Amino acid sequence: MQKIAIFGGTFNPIHNGHLHLAHCFSQKINFDRVIFVPTKTPIHKEDIFLASAEDRLYMCKLAVQGTNYEVSNMEVCRQTPSYTVLTLEDLKRQFPYDNLYFITGEDMFLSLLTWKNPARIFELATICSAPRSGEGMERMSRYAKKLKELGAVTILENIDFLPISSTMVRTAQKNGKDISNMVPTTVMEYIEQHHLYKR
Ligand code: NAP
Repeated sequence: MQKIAIFGGTFNPIHNGHLHLAHCFSQKINFDRVIFVPTKTPIHKEDIFLASAEDRLYMCKLAVQGTNYEVSNMEVCRQTPSYTVLTLEDLKRQFPYDNLYFITGEDMFLSLLTWKNPARIFELATICSAPRSGEGMERMSRYAKKLKELGAVTILENIDFLPISSTMVRTAQKNGKDISNMVPTTVMEYIEQHHLYKR
């Protein structure tokens, strides 16, 4: 039985904070596979300046080069909205005998009960999350108790948080600032070559 981690994200763009989170969980849980799944159109973020799904997917592929991580186009290619429950259903069909894990940061963890069909998500995957703030672990532990009532298995880890966000990358790029300490070099080059996040 394999341990397969799914890291879903808008990845607009993918950055070192995402990679660090995946890496830390990978080490702690010893995943056999880690699959990054960029969303097509994020259902929960309508107003951000969004690079195309193809650009975000490509940047994820560049970011994982030289690692064992994989990138899936399953949400980008799907005609229906990027609901996580549908992605997990698809993966469960592909890997019926394996254990699925879903990696998420603090904010998304704390919104899980508002997602489409959370009870089914919890049947399909163990939720792995880490705080992004000082008081985050306490808040997340309280929330995890509520999730448990719906059958969720959660793994919360105090992982060193890298203070980077996609918004920071986009803002720095728009203002002509250096982003080399926030994203892998390949991703930085792609952003520059394709004139992304200039406005
Ligand atoms: P994102 O902005 O690209 O971020 C992906 C994850 O990485 C987030 O959970 C985020 O944490 C975490 N993260 C970002 N920077 C980090 C850092 N420096 N250190 C540690 N963690 C960091 O993607 P997103 O828009 O939040 O979406 C996440 C996933 O949730 C997607 O797969 C989306 O489809 C899914 N989702 C599904 C539903 C639904 O099915 N109804 C609803 C909402 C979201 P934070 O959570 O703290 O930002």
